[in-house]
Amino acid sequence: MPVQKINDAIFLIDLKPADFENFIASYVLKGEKTAIIETGPTLTVPNLLKGLEEINVKPDEIDFVMVSHIHLDHGGGAGTLLEHLPNAKLIVHPRGIPHLENPQTLWVQARKALGKIVDFYGKPQPIPKDRMIPAENNMQLDLGDEIRIQIIETLGHASHHISFFEKSNKILFPGDTAGIYIRSLDVIVPTTPPLLVLHMILDSIEKLKKLEPKKLCYTHFGLADDALRKLDTYANQLKLWASIIKQGLKNGENLERIRERIIEEDSAVRKALPYIKNHPIMSRGIILQNIEGFIAYFKKFQK
Ligand SMILES: [Zn+2]
Repeated sequence: MPVQKINDAIFLIDLKPADFENFIASYVLKGEKTAIIETGPTLTVPNLLKGLEEINVKPDEIDFVMVSHIHLDHGGGAGTLLEHLPNAKLIVHPRGIPHLENPQTLWVQARKALGKIVDFYGKPQPIPKDRMIPAENNMQLDLGDEIRIQIIETLGHASHHISFFEKSNKILFPGDTAGIYIRSLDVIVPTTPPLLVLHMILDSIEKLKKLEPKKLCYTHFGLADDALRKLDTYANQLKLWASIIKQGLKNGENLERIRERIIEEDSAVRKALPYIKNHPIMSRGIILQNIEGFIAYFKKFQK
């Protein structure tokens, strides 16, 4: 498995769903204790285990597994992964716990929202409740060897979303709160499945900026410098989309017309378009799905 060394203590494992590189990352943080951030989906757990082997981490050495939220591409594999990690506990937002204990609803809802994409991810397996630790805002986790993780509740993308900040190196793991970063193009595109709670995600981004992170480790995908600027870029992109979509709804434009206007007005999306078209997962309607996330928001929170 492709493994990338972020620094002496932090490693990225490319999970390669459907064999596709640079889309979903797991991170391994090695102090005296060892933690994994993001499990990825069920079907890529074997790739994650291979990655651990490559960096000489034995399954029984993992103490903590943390997921930013329970969407299939971030935490769907947690149940299967924990079966391989005898000593690990899962840290997850408390609202995620019942859905991981009994993942049937999660699976049904994911199928409804994502359609065929779920076949790239696989069905989540149940997790015994006593193996899960509810995350609290500002929870601190000292792994030893100067690896100190702070958990930040970052709602908006989902009602069960948290982010992770490694304080010694000032590295932020934003989950889906900072968009999808396409490194080869140096652009960000939104990830806002219905329902995006816009005012909450903008607050969450502000919260993350206050930590003054230096680097970002995106789940989608990889390491990026200039963390504050990238968080700002994403907040501005969400605001731009919101204004286009709000105006479009007012003018009675259909989804396709709104999509066209976003491509006209958001240069990052325009630049990313060929990449998205060739992507086995993102090509399946990611822009329309994002627009629907905003529309659901306007319907729910504004008249
Ligand atoms: Zn998500």
